[in-house]
Amino acid sequence: MKTDYHLHSNHSYDSKTPVELIKKAADEQDIKSIALTEHHEITKVEFLKPFKIRDIDKYLEDCSNYDIIPGIEFGWDCETEIDIDLELFDFVLLSIHGVEDESRNVNWDNYFRNILYAAENVKRYDFLAHLDFPRRYINGYPEVDKKYYPIIEEIFKVLIKNGKGIEINTCGMRLYREPNPGIEILKLYNSVGGKLLTFGSDAHFDYHVGNNISEAMELACDLGFKKMSVFENGDLIQKNIK
Ligand SMILES: [Zn+2]
Ligand SMILES: [Zn+2]
Repeated sequence: MKTDYHLHSNHSYDSKTPVELIKKAADEQDIKSIALTEHHEITKVEFLKPFKIRDIDKYLEDCSNYDIIPGIEFGWDCETEIDIDLELFDFVLLSIHGVEDESRNVNWDNYFRNILYAAENVKRYDFLAHLDFPRRYINGYPEVDKKYYPIIEEIFKVLIKNGKGIEINTCGMRLYREPNPGIEILKLYNSVGGKLLTFGSDAHFDYHVGNNISEAMELACDLGFKKMSVFENGDLIQKNIK
């Protein structure tokens, strides 16, 4: 069953797309179940500070009116005090965004260390979003250096121990034909016993809703994954990908 569990409407700071248009785009592609995952960033990083849900009540009302799962993409710098009740949302993606050093280069060491810290210390989340996403911002989109695989493996073990999963985010496929995380990292997840998966387009425009989700599902099957997490009657359950 096709799902898209990573979508941004105009409740997010960086999207102008009305909820209605997202719902329409999903319906047109027969995507039966979608979650909005609006940005809410708790951070000292200046350019990320405005990424906050402004009106949670209105947001939850919109989701209920359009029969959409009310989710959140929770970003954290691993320092600033968390000022939102994540229990308000049915679906929580955990994201690490501020990963550049002073010269705006990607600092992979910090990125993975922060993910490990957040994965261990954030109490309420369901899936880790777009692992390896800084790849999107590097010239030529190089694969993550294998020297980081030990810490990635550690991250996966924390997720597995805590009953959390990873997202296969198709935004990378629009740019360089591999999702976030990339194929080699997905293989690593499988090899350490990672099973929980969800799929998301990270669309900020209606014309990106559902993009490459079918291809990503194919890919997951080819890599040996069998199940995906799907909402049914308000609960996340496991269904066969095919
Ligand atoms: Zn994100
Ligand atoms: Zn996002």
